Formats: sequence, structure tokens, C-alpha cells
Amino acid sequence: MRLLLIEDDPMIGRAARQGLGDAGFAVDWVMDGNAAERALANDVYDLAILDLGLPGQDGMTVLKGLRRSGNAVPVLIATARDAVSDRIAGLNAGADDYVLKPFDLDELIARVRALLRRHAGGASPLLECGGLVLDPVRKEVQLKGEPVSLSAREFALLEVLLRRPGAVLSREQLEDSVYGWTEEIGSNAIEVHLHNLRRKLGTQTIRNVRGVGYKVVAP
Ligand code: CA
Repeated sequence: MRLLLIEDDPMIGRAARQGLGDAGFAVDWVMDGNAAERALANDVYDLAILDLGLPGQDGMTVLKGLRRSGNAVPVLIATARDAVSDRIAGLNAGADDYVLKPFDLDELIARVRALLRRHAGGASPLLECGGLVLDPVRKEVQLKGEPVSLSAREFALLEVLLRRPGAVLSREQLEDSVYGWTEEIGSNAIEVHLHNLRRKLGTQTIRNVRGVGYKVVAP
């Protein structure tokens, strides 16, 4: 899952990026409204965390432009505790939820997960397909009731695939979902992780659609 963090305060931004990264998200961080607008136009994100007071253009302008362009990416606005009118204006302008600053990191992560879940149309925190069950909060995977041990990248890849069961995702889409801008990606890194996933879960669960990409199906 790839997130865009839009936050001009370096301390808050660093802490949020670290916490979200530790929770398994790929995080791109921008510090002004113009960079946010460019990133949202050029990259596909699963969710954006938007500070309202930003240099360049403020968060409300970014949000309104985003919705005007038809981009439905879930947006979590970050506002000060006493700024009730900002929260209301943000929600009315198309934000999906808000989080109060300074962040409680655990709450931020929980809100991000809840929003991703709602956006995917599921109320259950568990992702399931056939006998495969992934728990994004506990970071656990079971296959037919047996725990499966996965690396952090394998887990992130499986989570992306399980959020859209049956859909074929290209190597590029998978790469974009699990790596942020600043990470070095070996040329065949994704293939190696997918190979390991298929070895652990079975080639009938993670199917390779030759020349197109990968999908997860109920075996
Ligand atoms: Ca700010």
C-alpha cells in the first residue's frame, strides 16, 4: 500500500513517515502544496495524508483541485486539535476523515487502515481469498488454518493482491504499491518476492498471467 504524506513540519513528517513505514506502508513525503499536486497527478496512491497549512498552495486548495480532477484517492486531513471549522471545511471539500495533530502514531495508522478498508468496500479487517487469510493489523497470514511466515515485502505484495482478488496487477503496479520513491529497487526484486510467495502459497493461489502480471485467486 502506497501513501502520500503531505506535511511541511519536518519533525512531524519524519515521525509519521517512520511510523507508517514500520507499519509496512510505502510512504512518499512532500513538504509543499505544489509538490503534492504534482505527485497526486503523476503517481497512483492508495491514500493521502494532507496537512492543511502548507507553503505553495494550502491543503484545502490541493484537496479541491484533486476532487475537481476526478481523483477519488482517500484523503485523511491532518488538523490542529482546536481547528474544528477546518475539519468541517475539509470534510465538505471531499476529505474522507481527519486526524488530529500532533499525531498519535498508533491512531494515525489505525485511521489509515480503517480508511483503506472502507475504500475497498470491506468492513472486515481480514483479507481473505479461498483458504488464504491475511490480517493487516497483526501482520499474520494463514493458509488453510496454518500460519505462513512471510518477509515484510512478501507480506506487502500479498496484501496488495488480496485487496483486489481476481484482478491482474502488472509488475509495475505491484512495484509502485510496495516501494516509495526513495527506495532502491533491484531490477528483478519484485519477481524474486513473487517467486517466494508462490513457493510458500502455491502457484495455484498466486497466478502468473504471462506478459500481463499477477493475480490472487481462490484455489
Ligand atoms: Ca503545516
